[in-house]
Amino acid sequence: MNVLISACLTGICCRYDGTSAGCLLPSELHSRYGLLPFCPEVCAGLPTPRDSVELRNGQALTQNAVNLTAVFEEGARKGLALYQSQNCHAAILKSKSPSCGYGTLYDGTFTRRLTEGNGIFADLLASHNVPIFNETQLQNCLLFLHSLSHNTP
Ligand code: SF4
Repeated sequence: MNVLISACLTGICCRYDGTSAGCLLPSELHSRYGLLPFCPEVCAGLPTPRDSVELRNGQALTQNAVNLTAVFEEGARKGLALYQSQNCHAAILKSKSPSCGYGTLYDGTFTRRLTEGNGIFADLLASHNVPIFNETQLQNCLLFLHSLSHNTP
């Protein structure tokens, strides 16, 4: 059973500022499930480091108002294709990102204020009924995966 995971959460330095967001993943995630690290922004061809982006009215904009929406959408489509081709059962996505954030995002003013919403990648996965967890919900993700295992003949 495979799980797609934001690459930055696995320690890969693919964030806009060249850092990772590596977190302590439960050993059970590694031992029982296949983790597929994926970064939609890098996969769409954006460099690292790169300008930070926030979503405003559904558009992915840099602070200088460069519109990267089409690039973000391309990365999201590639991620969905990977998820489907690798028979994944859930996604663990970095919170608050304009690509990977699910439920809460920066509000597009570059002032660190949060608002409700989904990143472009997370939104595409959600529209295909992908179960999404973030890095603070790893135990919930494990419980979900266990329940699937028990229900799979
Ligand atoms: S796009 Fe997603 S995987 Fe890539 S750096 Fe941002 S949060 Fe991490």
